[in-house]
Amino acid sequence: MRPGRKALGAVMALAVLAGCGAEADAPDFVVRNTGVRVRTDALFARSLDFPTRVESTATAALEYWGGDWSALDGRLITFDGAAHVACGTLGNSVGCFDGNLRISTQDAGQQVRCVEETVLVHEIGHAVIGDADHTDPRWMDFTPVLEALRGRPGYVADGEVPCDLAVSVWRHPAPR
Ligand SMILES: [Zn+2]
Repeated sequence: MRPGRKALGAVMALAVLAGCGAEADAPDFVVRNTGVRVRTDALFARSLDFPTRVESTATAALEYWGGDWSALDGRLITFDGAAHVACGTLGNSVGCFDGNLRISTQDAGQQVRCVEETVLVHEIGHAVIGDADHTDPRWMDFTPVLEALRGRPGYVADGEVPCDLAVSVWRHPAPR
């Protein structure tokens, strides 16, 4: 494309959107009133049950944190295939809450097999109680969430495997 006023205008529009933290892309689907974007090749995120798994996992997390879906109302959850997501002054992290949620679909360099294995449960905690410094004792427990989400299938290239849930993934500090 010939560089001209039109191209410059588009670049400036992008810069403005980035500057105010807006997400330019529309969600791939909506759960309750929460948008979900899939930016990963992880099989679980391509699975037909993904929307219902996001919903039930988030419901269990919201319950644990004493919140409800209003805490996620109008927010956007992005599942990202990269090992780390940018997170403001926190730098690279496996998950981020800055009004919206960004969740890596990798854990220690491996693609995870189900949404329950991601740090979604952790980041929803920030959406409900804030607490960026992780002073609440619940950041070090998560046993009730583990009980609620236990026994679900995960997805690998040759089929289904059990989800390998561990409270350490959701606890603070989360693995980097
Ligand atoms: Zn945190």
